[in-house]
Amino acid sequence: SAYSDDIRNAIRTVADWPEKGVMFRDIMPLLQDAAVFRKLIDSFVHRYQNQKLDAIAAIDARGFILGAPLAYELGISLVPVRKKGKLPFETVTQSYDLEYCSATIELHTDAFAPGDRVLVMDDLIATGGTMLAACELVKRLQAEVVEVAAIIDLPDLNGSQRLKQAGFDVYAICEFD
Ligand code: 5GP
Repeated sequence: SAYSDDIRNAIRTVADWPEKGVMFRDIMPLLQDAAVFRKLIDSFVHRYQNQKLDAIAAIDARGFILGAPLAYELGISLVPVRKKGKLPFETVTQSYDLEYCSATIELHTDAFAPGDRVLVMDDLIATGGTMLAACELVKRLQAEVVEVAAIIDLPDLNGSQRLKQAGFDVYAICEFD
């Protein structure tokens, strides 16, 4: 659609970053373009406004940028999923492998009420490891993952396929090879 073309065209590709052979999809130009950023958030609002969501689990750090305006607009909770060591209260943690290294993310144990309907958000799905780990944390707190959402899916890395095989619905606005 015209919508997703504008969004896709605002994403910059940086070759060989953070290491040789990687084509990094950079969303900073998209954020800098106020009209395109508004279209992006509006398209998520349109998709999720009638889904009776209770919270957005937004993944550290680019997921925060998307999750905050969406939670504000939908009038629901914003729950940052943080890299290990940043949360002050009691936490649940999950470790996973990602494209370039391994990592641990965590949530406060009181982040959700049991049965809460949660959207998990990040900027991009590559191997799906980050999203899967976040979904595990949401489920460990007895909340329900309604869908995982991103701006970009990299289908060649099979992350969205992996997430679907694990039983999660996946939504991405655009794809890059
Ligand atoms: P995955 O866990 O799916 O392999 O990797 C996705 C995570 O790595 C996301 O948190 C995402 O922000 C980051 N990431 C990996 N590759 C890229 C990329 O090319 N562009 C952007 N913006 N983020 C990436």
